[in-house]
Amino acid sequence: MKLSYGYNYNRYEIPGFTRRSYNIDKTGLTKMKGILMVQDPVCLMSIDPKLVTNTIMHNGKSYYFCSDQCRNRFEANLHLYIGLPGHPAPKQHGHEVIKKRSLKLKRPLTENQSSVIVTDLENMMGIKNVHVEAECIYITYDLLQATVEQIEMTIVKTGEKLGSGLAENLKRAFIHYLEETELENLENLGQEHSH
Ligand SMILES: [Zn+2]
Repeated sequence: MKLSYGYNYNRYEIPGFTRRSYNIDKTGLTKMKGILMVQDPVCLMSIDPKLVTNTIMHNGKSYYFCSDQCRNRFEANLHLYIGLPGHPAPKQHGHEVIKKRSLKLKRPLTENQSSVIVTDLENMMGIKNVHVEAECIYITYDLLQATVEQIEMTIVKTGEKLGSGLAENLKRAFIHYLEETELENLENLGQEHSH
């Protein structure tokens, strides 16, 4: 099931809060009209704060998350999502950083195995497209919402193993490093511009 994302936040005035509501099927939440919703700062979904258990307090303000995935992203690169004083974060502008990658598994997947993996990956936040061919998974995602490390964790949870061997391990470590660096650079952009 595909979620409808709300990327039009021109009308939003109080950071982190919006009265607009969306159909939220994935987490078992339902559309609740007239209720003050809070916004997940990572995926920008509107959620009912009373139904959310994933929260973080930061500088006296509560942040609410639809999933562990979004909370983990927030914890790793806070300023990507809440910005810096006077500098809204990339996510507050509704920006996306689209990436395409291929991930290699240890064995080719049967049709059933690949449909399990595709479903689990599509249920993650920020996943745009998933396609499996034999032992390769081709995936398109928004780096601001999902890292390749999180994607790999989802794959491993289905019971499949990632391709092993030195070359594969090095390639994965390198991609993790590249993504961390890119996210840190994006996070620090506001800071550099403030001088
Ligand atoms: Zn979320």
